[in-house]
Amino acid sequence: MGLFSKDIKTLDDLFVHTLRDIYYAENQIVKALPNMIDKATNPALKQGFEKHLRETEGHIKRVEQVFELHGVEAKGVDCPAIDGIIEETEEISGEIDDKQVMDAALIAATQAVEHYEITRYGTLIAWADQLGRSDCATILKQNLAEEKATDKKLTEMAESRVNMQAAE
Ligand code: FE
Ligand code: FE
Repeated sequence: MGLFSKDIKTLDDLFVHTLRDIYYAENQIVKALPNMIDKATNPALKQGFEKHLRETEGHIKRVEQVFELHGVEAKGVDCPAIDGIIEETEEISGEIDDKQVMDAALIAATQAVEHYEITRYGTLIAWADQLGRSDCATILKQNLAEEKATDKKLTEMAESRVNMQAAE
């Protein structure tokens, strides 16, 4: 279902639609991360993915709390954007034999996922505030903070050891 679904008429509808989009995305990420953990070689990267898998399970629970606070059913809507990002990761990482180059590819792919989540949560927080739902915004901000922290850690890894080793 696209952004311009005919059911979307108000900012509230758009908020709920986008909440369902991120709910779907978070669920797809939980399914994709075990594969990334398997493929990662660098221990810090592997542990980082494991930690973020647990955090992502928490993100789903928080989004469910927001659905409940807002009085709407917790359900997902197809999000072709996140499907595409995950599909591309699986395609690329299926073709890399060098372990360090694989780690570099996994970092790049995960950063694309985190950036997608960051843009969605940023939007949802702004809309929640505009709709007078600061209670929802407070919960969504907790997810945003964890996505940003993960992205920052991945940048640090990309700029240090992992990519340096891949270039050797
Ligand atoms: Fe998340
Ligand atoms: Fe994330």
